[in-house]
Amino acid sequence: MTDVPRSVTEAEKQVQILRRLLDAGLVLNSNFALEPLLMYIMDAASEITNAEAASILLIDKRTNELYFVASNTPNEGRLSHIPIPLDDSIAGTIVLENRSIIIQDARNDIRINRTVDRQIEFETRSLMGVPMRIKNDVIGVLEAVNRIGPPWTDEDRNHLSILASQAAVAIQNAQQAEDLRKAYEELNKLDKLKNDFIAVASHELRTPLSIIIGYASFLQEEAQGEASEHAAAVLSSAQHLGDIIEDMTNLRYLQLGASGLEREPVSLVSILQAVQHQTEGMASAKNQQFEVVYPRLSDMVNVDAVKMQMAFTNVINNAVKFTPPGGKIRVYTEQHSGEIWIRVKDSGIGIPPDQLEEIFKNFYQVADHMTRKYNGMGLGLSIARAVLEAHHGRMWAESDGPNKGSLLTLSLPLIGQTGMLNASRAQP
Ligand code: ADP
Repeated sequence: MTDVPRSVTEAEKQVQILRRLLDAGLVLNSNFALEPLLMYIMDAASEITNAEAASILLIDKRTNELYFVASNTPNEGRLSHIPIPLDDSIAGTIVLENRSIIIQDARNDIRINRTVDRQIEFETRSLMGVPMRIKNDVIGVLEAVNRIGPPWTDEDRNHLSILASQAAVAIQNAQQAEDLRKAYEELNKLDKLKNDFIAVASHELRTPLSIIIGYASFLQEEAQGEASEHAAAVLSSAQHLGDIIEDMTNLRYLQLGASGLEREPVSLVSILQAVQHQTEGMASAKNQQFEVVYPRLSDMVNVDAVKMQMAFTNVINNAVKFTPPGGKIRVYTEQHSGEIWIRVKDSGIGIPPDQLEEIFKNFYQVADHMTRKYNGMGLGLSIARAVLEAHHGRMWAESDGPNKGSLLTLSLPLIGQTGMLNASRAQP
C-alpha cells in the first residue's frame, strides 16, 4: 500500500504521478504500433520513478535469454546486440523469481552486468527492476536506472509495477497486431503468386491446346471407324480443358477489373433465350424438368451480353449438375425496386447454411476435393458474381439445407426504372 503523503508538495507530486499513470493506461490501451509504444513506456518509467533512464528487456523464448527491446540510455542502439542470460543477471533473477529488485547503490554491486555499461559507455549507479507480467507469466523486465534525488521507496516500486503490467499487455497486443500484419502480407504475396501462376499457366496452355483441338478435329473428319471415335474423345476432352482455361482467364480479368466489358442495352429475354439454348440439352440428358419463365421483352438491362450469358450459364449448369436425374430446374424473374432478379431454383442436393457465402470464393467447393463426385474447379460462381458486380449487380444463394434444393439469385439494375413494383411477372 502507498504511504500517506507527508507534505503538500509531496501530495502534489503523488497526484502528478498518479495522473501520469492514468494517462499511460489510456495511451497504452489505444496505441498499437510497437516502436512509439516502447518509447512512451520508457519516458513514463523514467518520469514516474525520477530516474535518468529506463529499459525494457523481453524474453526470447527460442534462446531463453533476455534482450533489450527499448531503452532511453545513451548509445541505446548497441544494446540490442547484447543478450542477457537469465541465470546470471539482475533482470534474469527478476524473471526467474518473479519479484522486483531495488539496488540503491549499484556502483560496487557485483550483480550488475558491467559489459552492458562498457558497451554503451554508461555507469549504472542505482537500479530498480520489476517483472512485466501477463496473468502469471513473466514476459520481461522494466528497469529504471540512476535515480535523481532521494532513494527509491516502496511507492516508487508500486508505481513502476503498475506501469509494467499495463506495458506488458500493450506490448503483447502490439506484437500480435504486428504478427497479424506480417501473416496478412505473406498471404497477399501467396495470393499474388497464385494469380500470376494462373495467368501464366492459362496463357501458356492455350497454344498447345489449340493445336491439339485443330489436329483432333481434322482427324475426326478424315479418319474412319474406331479412329474417328478416338479422335472425337480427344476433341471432347480438349474442349473441356479449353473451358477450364477459359474460366481461369475470365476470373483473372474480372478480378483485375480489366474485363473490357462491352455494355449495351439489351432485352433480358434475348440473353435468357441464348442461355436456355445452351443448357437445356444437359438437363434433358439427365431427364430433368427444365422451365424458363421469361420476363417482358421491354425489360432491358445495360450489360455485356456475352459475359452475362456466361454468368447465367454457370449458375444453370450448377443447378443441372447438383440436381439428381428426374429433378426440377426453374428459371424465373422478379422485379424489386428498379432491379430485376433472375432466379434459378433447383430441387437438388442443396447447400448447407454455413456454406451459402463460401461457395462464391475462388476454387471453393462444398464437397472435399478428395471425396466429391462432381466435376468442376470451384470457379463458376466466383466468375458469375464478379460479372454481376462489374455490372453493379448482386448475387446470392439460398437453400433450406441438404437435399432441399437451392435458389440462386442474380440481380441487375433495370434500365430506366427506379422504385418499381414488387411483383413477379411472367411471359411465355
Ligand atoms: P464448381 O461447380 O466448378 O464446383 P462453382 O463455383 O460453380 O464451382 O460452385 C462452387 C460450389 O458451390 C460447388 O462445388 C457446389 O459445392 C456448390 N454449389 C453451387 N451451385 C449449387 C447448387 N445449385 N446446388 C448445390 N450446390 C451448389
